[in-house]
Amino acid sequence: MGEFELIRRYFMPAQVGAGVVTGVGDDGAVLEVPPGQQLVVSIDTLVEGVHFLPDTAPARLAERLVGAAASDLAAMAATPAWLTLALTLPQADEPWLEAFSGALLRRCDELGFALVGGDTTRGPLCVLSAQVHGLVPSGRAWRRRGALAGDRILVSGTLGDSRGGLETLLHPPPPAAEPAAIAQLRQRFYRPEPRLELAQRLREHVHAAIDLSDGLLGDLGHLLEASAVGARLQADRLPLSPALQQLYPQQAQAWALAGGEDFELCLTVPPERLSRCLDTARALAIPLTEVGEITAATGLQVVRAGATVLGALPSSWDHFRSKNE
Ligand code: ADP
Ligand code: MG
Repeated sequence: MGEFELIRRYFMPAQVGAGVVTGVGDDGAVLEVPPGQQLVVSIDTLVEGVHFLPDTAPARLAERLVGAAASDLAAMAATPAWLTLALTLPQADEPWLEAFSGALLRRCDELGFALVGGDTTRGPLCVLSAQVHGLVPSGRAWRRRGALAGDRILVSGTLGDSRGGLETLLHPPPPAAEPAAIAQLRQRFYRPEPRLELAQRLREHVHAAIDLSDGLLGDLGHLLEASAVGARLQADRLPLSPALQQLYPQQAQAWALAGGEDFELCLTVPPERLSRCLDTARALAIPLTEVGEITAATGLQVVRAGATVLGALPSSWDHFRSKNE
């Protein structure tokens, strides 16, 4: 099967999406940004051996790729519109492509993306990139900058689960672990659920935002730096799932602070908007938890059982350092 046959067979969506003037099949896509809206663009890559274990099911890779990329749009309070896909593959393995493209197109559909183009190349390793394009009312995109002293820090969902899911894949889970709890944590690792709807519903209330891809300490650190403020984080308030607490009671809090790939949102809101934000999240049945406060003094203070514990904490993932250090 040649490159063009491969694209036609697996990556030609059945229907064109909203705003797509020209999609897959030309030299470029032509897209219509509605008046009064701005385009938000972000790209994410998964590299075999770095982000996923060889032999990971292709459908899982597709779901992780699209979900993780979409999380960046949630962090900007943007709505998904279009997606382009760059694939580097060692060979054109048809069952692999069939499963990958089926899952990718399905996930795009669920999250509101039209696949409008891409690039397909052969290479020694499997490398997958998704560029996502989202829309936001002009001037309304969330940023990492904008947090003010006194803002409350909120996180969505539960933290550390994805790290726990990875642990169950790398090492045998504790013997007493319930299969349902193992499955839940693995699901969090394989299938990021970007908080798109929550972001859109909270759009007007938030001062600063980031999504949690590398771990709360590191990602909140980026937000603090961009906003030129500090924070006090209450470690005992971090939302932990029952599954994570059951399987890894010793590590749960550390993974909530520094485990990667939760793809939850970390938001700062002024105190007078707090209860509205919490009500909105409750109505969507999405956990949203106050975990700390923005301070005028820079630096990140972590408080556990009333004592400041910063210094004894693991830091977040950085690809260009050799390990979590
Ligand atoms: P060019 O050589 O002009 O860059 P290509 O031959 O790479 O074009 O691609 C042909 C068409 O197929 C383009 O519209 C491109 O966007 C699309 N395409 C290529 N690979 C993919 C893919 N993996 N998924 C979706 N569309 C793709
Ligand atoms: Mg061309």
